[in-house]
Amino acid sequence: MRFCVVGAGFSGAIIARHLSEKGHKVLLLDERTHIAGNCHTARDEATGVMVHHYGPHIFHTADRRAWDYICQFGTFLPYVNRVKAVSKGRMYTLPVNLLTINQFFETTMSPAQARSFIAGKADRSIKEPKNFEEQALSMIGPELYKAFFYGYTRKQWGLEPTELPASILKRLPLRFNYDDNYFNHPYQGMPEGGYSAIVENILKSTNIDLRLNTKFEEISEEFHHVFYTGPIDRYFEFRLGRLGYRTLDFERIDSDGDYQGTAVINYCDQEVPYTRISEHKHFAPWEADALQKTVSFREYSRLAEPNDVPYYPIRLANEKTMLEQYIELAGNTPNVSFLGRLGTYRYLDMDVTISEALSACDRIDVALNEGEPLPAFFIDPT
Ligand code: FAD
Ligand code: UDP
Repeated sequence: MRFCVVGAGFSGAIIARHLSEKGHKVLLLDERTHIAGNCHTARDEATGVMVHHYGPHIFHTADRRAWDYICQFGTFLPYVNRVKAVSKGRMYTLPVNLLTINQFFETTMSPAQARSFIAGKADRSIKEPKNFEEQALSMIGPELYKAFFYGYTRKQWGLEPTELPASILKRLPLRFNYDDNYFNHPYQGMPEGGYSAIVENILKSTNIDLRLNTKFEEISEEFHHVFYTGPIDRYFEFRLGRLGYRTLDFERIDSDGDYQGTAVINYCDQEVPYTRISEHKHFAPWEADALQKTVSFREYSRLAEPNDVPYYPIRLANEKTMLEQYIELAGNTPNVSFLGRLGTYRYLDMDVTISEALSACDRIDVALNEGEPLPAFFIDPT
């Protein structure tokens, strides 16, 4: 059979490889000049640093299948994400941990003391937090919320935290020990040769016809089925409206040696216009010291306009209603399946992206063996 896969990020590359391994003909398209989608990495000519082109990407997971899968295609070296945060002229560590609490309140509390101290700050009248702010107030109280979350979240989302879902904050741990690892997952690392080399290996030794610089809209060939990992609203020519995204602007900073001494520093005050600065050579600690020059990026968040790169789906009530209408439209469109972060309009970490693509492959096998039609979605995107 002949299939088209739109998008050469992790979602599209995994589906394309699987179909090709099963003996099918696959056309894999991407409108960009490179593979790996938003995970694309490339060596910067001026500095030799491996730059994460669309912002920092740290691989972390508790999903053994996703970890084993990706490790087949390259070496992952140890990397633990330890984020620093500036608030009102002082430097702290995030996620909020015992050092953050003791530094912020100028105390030397033990874990048990800090736990009851923060419990005393937390707003116990909020039983079921309905939004980001309520979640924060019920978890850490007003002082830490204002210092680390209010200003940053305003900048990141362009909205009051009362308008955002509580789930955004639930992503972050709160710890009463000195563990400042940003993630809780058992597997965490960075690909030695960058993410694009991993995707290149996924696509190696296959019969996939890879066409970069090519939009799906330019293709007039016939296929048994299309796997579409681009934006779902774009597939339908935005006929029901545009789903909202935040986009990012990156401002490059070149310098010698070491610019900030670590990979990521968040700027939590609302007066500072950017959200964070990432110095990319620190994402590859095994080679950082050997590099004379360094490159860092200030990150600014704003509402995506039609020609901007869509980064973070906003997913407020209006968008969810529009998404449901697109889902209905997709359900009535034969021979196309939507997947990946843009196809399902969800924020997906890389491990979830990989896991969902592998589950989709399982489902594709069953459907093709049984001669059944493929579904419009392999998961429920709502
Ligand atoms: P994408 O990577 O977006 O790939 C889709 C591809 O489809 C794109 O290359 C696009 O050009 C192409 N395309 C779209 N429409 C068309 C069309 N019509 N014709 C042709 N081509 C088309 N995850 C982590 O696990 N750890 C992190 O630290 C992390 N950091 C992140 C930081 C930022 C700023 C963002 C936004 C995301 C981050 N992620 C992180 C998530 C990660 O980027 C995604 O999990 C991953 O990119 C999803 O892969 P995908 O293949 O679904 O989509
Ligand atoms: N956040 C914050 N201050 C920080 C870091 C995070 O207010 O220093 C908030 C912000 O709203 C962010 C959310 O917590 O969107 C989740 O954090 P995460 O690091 O997962 O951010 P993202 O992946 O959205 O960049």
